[in-house]
Amino acid sequence: MNRALLTIVSMLTVACAASGGTGVFKAGAAASNITPPLDEPVVGGWNSPPATHIHDELYARCLVLDDGATRLVLVMVDSLGVSREVLDAAKRLIHDKTGIPAANVLIAATHTHSSIPARGSGAAPTATVPGEPQPGIGNYGGFLIRRIADGVRRALNNLEPARIGWGRAEEPTQVFNRRYLMKPGTPTPNPFGGVDQAVMNPGQGNPNILKAAGPIDPEIVFLSVQSRDGRPIALLANYSLHYVGPGAGAVISADYFGVFADRIQEMLAADRLSPPFVGMLSNGTSGDINNIPWLEKPQQRYKPYEKMQQVANLVAQAVHEAHKEITFHDWVQLDARQTDLTLAARKPTAEQLTWAREVLKKPEDAPKYHTHERTYANRVLGLKDSSDTVGVILQTLRVGDLAVCAIPFEVFVEIGLELKAKSPFAQTFTISHANGSNGYLPTAGQHALGGYETWLGTSRVEFEAADKIVANLLAMHNEMRAGKEQAARP
Ligand SMILES: [Zn+2]
Repeated sequence: MNRALLTIVSMLTVACAASGGTGVFKAGAAASNITPPLDEPVVGGWNSPPATHIHDELYARCLVLDDGATRLVLVMVDSLGVSREVLDAAKRLIHDKTGIPAANVLIAATHTHSSIPARGSGAAPTATVPGEPQPGIGNYGGFLIRRIADGVRRALNNLEPARIGWGRAEEPTQVFNRRYLMKPGTPTPNPFGGVDQAVMNPGQGNPNILKAAGPIDPEIVFLSVQSRDGRPIALLANYSLHYVGPGAGAVISADYFGVFADRIQEMLAADRLSPPFVGMLSNGTSGDINNIPWLEKPQQRYKPYEKMQQVANLVAQAVHEAHKEITFHDWVQLDARQTDLTLAARKPTAEQLTWAREVLKKPEDAPKYHTHERTYANRVLGLKDSSDTVGVILQTLRVGDLAVCAIPFEVFVEIGLELKAKSPFAQTFTISHANGSNGYLPTAGQHALGGYETWLGTSRVEFEAADKIVANLLAMHNEMRAGKEQAARP
């Protein structure tokens, strides 16, 4: 055997060992309609009016990747947040039907603020139209479990030899930190009788704004899969923007996440039906990021759904441009890691309990120290006897040189930036609202500044939670990285 042939043979041996023997990379996608009936309570605002209209359908958008040895499942659900109970049950059903372990299944909510509650797997949410009894959906959690699992099974049915690539773009004009430090002397009360340093959504063009309390992340990371002959199968993007809105009141909509899925399908000239292309936009680390330019006076009023279309178009255009430059690979290694982390739950202090009782003693129309003091007084009292701990799933997926982190909170942008900076992988992004729904995750530094996202009743876990979560995710990244070197060794 000559030297060149020997090299080729040993390269083939390495490729087969690394790909679990078959060496065929496959992908499949499908989307399950999860639109609820009308009259269910629309969540995402301070009250939950019954739905009167559906602007666009909600979906659970599913992608399955297979490297011949490992299968990964990614599902983006058009919902404000889905409880861990529902997602655990969906993963159990997926495992029963397909054999794919729960640790390899990432299910996240997009965080559209125009969906209905996605909790429980047995208890019936009640419809809220006064007067006559409403039939209601009965068990939206149970419906979601079935529809998510069906979407994954259909994506598996669509599995075919595929190529995969990933890339990045930037869209800095549509993301703004929503927390601000105010000029000295500006009143900044909180609902617990104290004052904050940081104020969320301080009023557009407010002359008392001093400066933003945190950064933004303008990056859009995406991964794209296509058939061996170049037909688009799916594209999953990630952008750190809370949601866009505004919609039209008590109306169901997937927000700009749904518009993006539609636009990217058009731009890639992909088919919706046969087999279906699935566009997916996941929520990055956007706990403190929204789409409002706080430092400018309002320029124009937008019609309902106009703004979300504009933003989705810009994000899809940026992805589409970058997509022209990416390299597709015939095979990449897949991997998944998962940890169960127990965090300390925040509990009300004696002072907060006393304040809450005083607030609730006052007549409802009495002058208030803070607009939402009654809401938070009830939350504080409700937390008095709650569990001392919160168990959360942390998960990382590996797709070649790309790593995906999944965190079950509304994650602050600094946390995503830190993971991107410290991850040993060439490209990293974080999906928030994944594998559970546990409120905001500010950094310890942002907790010290106060503000809505840090309030007890909005944030449920210890101030050090973000540091612990980052350390855990990076440890799993390093483990997966070491795993690659092992697999690559002949
Ligand atoms: Zn939110």
